[in-house]
Amino acid sequence: MEAQDARTPLLGLDLPGLQAWCAQIGEKPFRATQLYRWIHQRGVADFAQMSDLAQSLRSRLPDIAVVAPLPVISEQASTDGTIKWLFDVGGGDAVEAVYIPEDDRATLCVSSQAGCAVGCRFCSTGYQGFSRNLSSAEIVAQLWWAEHHLRQRLGRPGERIISNVVMMGMGEPLQNYSALVPALRTMLSDHGYGLSRRRVTVSTSGVVPMMDRLGQDCPTALAVSLHAPNDALRDDLVPLNRKYPLAELMAACRRYLEFAPRDFITFEYCMLDGVNDSEAHARELLDAIRMPDLPHGRLPCKFNLIPFNPFTQSGLRRSPRERVLAFAQVLQDTGLVTTVRKTRGDDIDAACGQLAGEVQDRTRVHLRWQEPVPKTLQPEVSR
Ligand code: SF4
Repeated sequence: MEAQDARTPLLGLDLPGLQAWCAQIGEKPFRATQLYRWIHQRGVADFAQMSDLAQSLRSRLPDIAVVAPLPVISEQASTDGTIKWLFDVGGGDAVEAVYIPEDDRATLCVSSQAGCAVGCRFCSTGYQGFSRNLSSAEIVAQLWWAEHHLRQRLGRPGERIISNVVMMGMGEPLQNYSALVPALRTMLSDHGYGLSRRRVTVSTSGVVPMMDRLGQDCPTALAVSLHAPNDALRDDLVPLNRKYPLAELMAACRRYLEFAPRDFITFEYCMLDGVNDSEAHARELLDAIRMPDLPHGRLPCKFNLIPFNPFTQSGLRRSPRERVLAFAQVLQDTGLVTTVRKTRGDDIDAACGQLAGEVQDRTRVHLRWQEPVPKTLQPEVSR
């Protein structure tokens, strides 16, 4: 068996965490800020290069701490500029991060778990089952690698490359809450990656209690994987709905916006041929978001319609484009902002719902589609 590394993985500490750690080793809080900036702003992993740290500290650090990048198993670059990295997280597990450059932004899609326990029917990650939660260090390591590797590769040292992070890779981030929040804080910190609250999006399939906690602890932008306008259909497509049905989810969205008053919820809706894509479904969605006492009589939100990326085991098909447009029209006619997601990185399987990596089917999630999600597979929620 591999010996465990007893050193503290510094990538996983937010600034208050690093300050507390520095206090434990007898260092002043300003040393934490220095270290944090070297690691996250300058991408330095070698303590010997951190020239403004006291020599005594520089020599001590390698024995007690580590800045550990995740080993890259593979990199695939799409013709459209999208890059997908597959990272080794040990024990036979791998996770993926995807860099998506656009004219006015560059987004990194980050994974929060190896596999996923939610088991959405249209998602190849969900199909492959849950292996384990990532640590804060493993979540941040994806951004650390992408940001600093791309600075070098694109010949833009010192310039910020990643402008947006979406927690939409493998996993349900709100089922890994205690690791997620320090990672988000490092993304948002002025001494870390300096991303604004609205440029960091947590995507959830609807873990209601954790949505409430996130609103209080770290209210980033929130995307909700909706995919169905009623409980019967959503119970089937997103099994977590059996635990937190639509009315509860909508109420949680409303409460979330109390912590982020000028924001809106982005609803993700994967368009599945003949399943959830009729104009009647679109009208039902309008009912689901109705809140008569709010301005415009509904929850502040927008819709992002996602063309399904078919994979063999799902038995599902992508909706024809004309049906997607007709669906969008029903929503747009009421003044709702509705976009149809461009598919990116199709040639490297980096499109949404295709982040399957090398995770093995350990939990045979497909056998659980008709069962309530077992509590043991919801480590954060069931506490
Ligand atoms: S869509 Fe998200 S929550 Fe659903 S199975 Fe896939 S990774 Fe998990």
